[in-house]
Amino acid sequence: MTKIAMKTPLVEMDGDEMTRIIWKLIKDELIEPFVDLKTEYFDLGLEERERTRDQVTVDAAEATKRLGVAVKCATITPNAARMDEYHLSEMWKSPNGTIRALLDGTVFRAPIVVRGIDPYVRTWKKPITIARHAYGDVYKNTELRVEGPGTVELVYTPADGGDEKRALVHDFAGAGVAQGIHNLDDSIASFARASFNYALDTNQDLWFATKDTISKTYDHRFKDIFQEVFDAEYRARFEEAGIEYFYTLIDDAVARVIRSEGGFIWACKNYDGDVMSDMVSTAFGSLAMMTSVLVSPAGYYEFEAAHGTVQRHYYKHLAGEQTSTNSVATIFAWTGALAKRGELDELPELVAFARKLEQATIDTIESGVMTGDLAAITSLPNPTRVSTQEFICAVAERL
Ligand code: NAP
Ligand code: MG
Repeated sequence: MTKIAMKTPLVEMDGDEMTRIIWKLIKDELIEPFVDLKTEYFDLGLEERERTRDQVTVDAAEATKRLGVAVKCATITPNAARMDEYHLSEMWKSPNGTIRALLDGTVFRAPIVVRGIDPYVRTWKKPITIARHAYGDVYKNTELRVEGPGTVELVYTPADGGDEKRALVHDFAGAGVAQGIHNLDDSIASFARASFNYALDTNQDLWFATKDTISKTYDHRFKDIFQEVFDAEYRARFEEAGIEYFYTLIDDAVARVIRSEGGFIWACKNYDGDVMSDMVSTAFGSLAMMTSVLVSPAGYYEFEAAHGTVQRHYYKHLAGEQTSTNSVATIFAWTGALAKRGELDELPELVAFARKLEQATIDTIESGVMTGDLAAITSLPNPTRVSTQEFICAVAERL
């Protein structure tokens, strides 16, 4: 068999611990036998980040701007324990945070739905993808503990020397708390564009919700910007694609999501996305079945698994014990990136290969062969619990 050719290389970001082991297995067993794989390789493993003083992360993000599509392995975000474990000279920042800041993107998280891993919500038949706005609000707030009677105000001082604006937050009769939060028109518009683009890309409806009835200026601004961007830039394309943009109040959205059968993108303000993505991913069954893609307003894509480096399994692996780590989300990070590359480079064979690999992965699980995390929750009778490597080999055989 001749291997499938590629045109533009993918940006490949290697990572840490158990997912680094899985990364190599996926390439060796599932991709390189079939695809003449072209990548620009960046080692984001913690040792290399230390050696390059984290320059490698910046280089990988810059390469993504140049080439357009990246696939990333999970990486360690250092904490105090990692400082000792890896003899770090600095507590390097989260690579995901660094990359997101450089690409200015929105993160979309979607569950991989398979028969036998049933969502806790019975009506959910299709994935629900959450798009979380990753800037501002309570995550960039300023807070005050109010000690006793007095007033708290918001004050805006225009940079051009115009008139100051003041608004009373509260006239305190006793002790309490206060906070100031903000957001930016540009950031909200980027979030809206990323969400509309992703809906078009995946041919799904887009839902958005805020609390604009209560927050008549702040949340209302989000509602207005989404509507303006939609009317000016996306309405015609949505009509053509036969998909909808649907706005409602956040509490109504929550109720409708539970009653829905899934199959849409749910754009969430920062806090809503933080909370709801944990609820939705848990309700779909397993963190190990959740994919994540960063989409920038300029049209760059970075695909990864939503889970971390699975440290506990890695220590077992180092101790020579057999592991049963789920590689599905990492496989789908690769297929997402290969399919997007194939689409941009007009290589239908590459897109078809990615879809076949996804199908082989799903079929393997549906045939009853799965890793321990899924074997513990599946509704299929007598599942076969396999090791990390055995699962990948079973997918390869089917492929
Ligand atoms: P984690 O790696 O997501 O793992 C937490 C637990 O979830 C695991 O111990 C395991 O449970 C289960 N799990 C997660 N993924 C699994 C998989 N593929 N197969 C089977 N079980 C899986 O989170 P963590 O242990 O809190 O973090 C470890 C490291 O990952 C940290 O250094 C953190 O900074 C990093 N991290 C990176 C990313 C990223 O790069 N995107 C995201 C999150 C965390 P059991 O132990 O019960 O089997
Ligand atoms: Mg959260």
